[in-house]
Amino acid sequence: MTTPPPTSPPGPAVPPRGTLVDRFGRAHHDLRISLTDRCSLRCTYCMPAEGVPWLARSTMLSTDEIVHVARVGVALGIREIRLTGGEPLLRVDVVDVVRRLTALTTPDGAPVEVSLTTNALRLPALAAPLRDAGLTRVNVSLDTLDRARFAELTRRDKLVETLAGIAAADAAGLHPVKINAVAMRGVNDDEVVALTRFAVERGYQMRFIEQMPLDGGHTWDRTEMVTQAEILERLRAAFTLTEVPGRGAAPAELWHVDGGPATVGVIASVSAPFCGACDRLRLTADGQLRACLFSQTEVDTRDVLRSDEPAPLIDEGLAAAYRQCLAGKKAGHDIDDPTFLQPRRPMSAIGG
Ligand code: SAM
Ligand code: SF4
Repeated sequence: MTTPPPTSPPGPAVPPRGTLVDRFGRAHHDLRISLTDRCSLRCTYCMPAEGVPWLARSTMLSTDEIVHVARVGVALGIREIRLTGGEPLLRVDVVDVVRRLTALTTPDGAPVEVSLTTNALRLPALAAPLRDAGLTRVNVSLDTLDRARFAELTRRDKLVETLAGIAAADAAGLHPVKINAVAMRGVNDDEVVALTRFAVERGYQMRFIEQMPLDGGHTWDRTEMVTQAEILERLRAAFTLTEVPGRGAAPAELWHVDGGPATVGVIASVSAPFCGACDRLRLTADGQLRACLFSQTEVDTRDVLRSDEPAPLIDEGLAAAYRQCLAGKKAGHDIDDPTFLQPRRPMSAIGG
């Protein structure tokens, strides 16, 4: 017997829908929520071997608080929520979080689409419960198919478990299963074709991501980054690629592989930024709203949530936080500007 979803905190006294618009007139519909900054892997492009200074538990939002921030966002125009981290499946009540977020509805009465980005290690146990809680699909990180290389790259010998997690997501019907790989020079760039074959043969969607200056160890070096152009050159040596039109606000540019229907995508955040089409906001595990992965500023929701104000004023405070965050959104990430500064938070604490 399934238990009914708990109700969201009372409310809302939020402004009308469609108001999440930045100063360039771009409407924002997508909220990425980090459930934790902790992780079971230590991918070299993300964290140093010893990890990073973790967020204090007391600063992290409770599930009630996450649902509250999300509910106000949905009333303002958020339609899609992606759960991330760190490793979101390390959060002990992740199934409950999904159940409560999927119970939210947009002002038009449509359900909110909730998906998840994960390293897959806990998917054998969680894929079916997550699907039953309303999760629509998963993105899984898989940078190599070679066990020794996987152990070196993630600093954990977990390729077999990762592949089992991907298979579990597929078996649970969390489709489409998307596979993310960060392409790195001299590390896994020789596997671009093999990873794509692996995905195409199983009906998964392969996505390559250009490495970004977001690692906790501050080791990013532009000359070591594998660009979209190089990735496509390798792919074109093995497959016929045909561009898929109509990218919209999606970060990945897509190509049909050998006539389709399989696709391969590249997220060229550095060499061909898609900032002009970005409709994403981010909420960190400690309750900070960010307009961009590369933002230098954040807007706090935690103090608003934990204030003694009456519920309608808390809702208004959260709506104001969303608007303040959007007002500070820049036109682009400026990685190529000589004054560019890597954000203080690493990717794992922002939520990728
Ligand atoms: N732990 C989960 C995972 O790995 O899928 C979710 C969090 S992880 C930070 C989200 C995504 O960010 C992953 O696809 C990962 O490959 C990507 N990522 C992490 N560091 C990156 C970097 N420096 N450049 C580009 N992508 C990065
Ligand atoms: Fe963990 Fe994901 Fe970062 Fe890898 S990319 S260390 S799995 S948070």
